[in-house]
Amino acid sequence: MKKFILIFYLIVNFCGCQNTTTKQIDFNKTSQEMSKKTKIKKIIKTETEWKVLLNEDEYRILREKGTEAPHTGIYNLHFENGTYNCAGCNSALFESSAKFDSNCGWPSFDKSIDGKISYSIDKSFGMLRTEIICSSCDGHLGHIFNDGPTQTGMRYCVNSLSLDFKKEKN
Ligand SMILES: [Zn+2]
Repeated sequence: MKKFILIFYLIVNFCGCQNTTTKQIDFNKTSQEMSKKTKIKKIIKTETEWKVLLNEDEYRILREKGTEAPHTGIYNLHFENGTYNCAGCNSALFESSAKFDSNCGWPSFDKSIDGKISYSIDKSFGMLRTEIICSSCDGHLGHIFNDGPTQTGMRYCVNSLSLDFKKEKN
């Protein structure tokens, strides 16, 4: 019985992060408005150049839209003060003040740095989700859900491998 409860808990917990019932969020308009306000320098590289720059795991996540296994990423339970930059192009994406423990196995943020993230509809795996992408290098970061527990109501579910943490200088 205990084993059954554990399996049930794991399924619920996993589904919580791949929520199919969450209403689709229309970020395209917001994204375009923010891009106008914030001039984003586009980083364009060939796939060969990316393969040189990134390690195998980073390439799989950032360039091939992969997902790291839950609870394995180095930033999942990381709560130092600083900024989380894109692992592909170093663009600052999230402040540590926006990070919270969602218990879903991936680093979670309730807010991104203005204009640094783009949104795209993702219909893969029979789910309707909103993908989050680095506005600068178009690297895949993860997905966003509108079931966040904080005031913004948002949960940016991000792969650790898409991020590079820069500690705040004292
Ligand atoms: Zn980037």
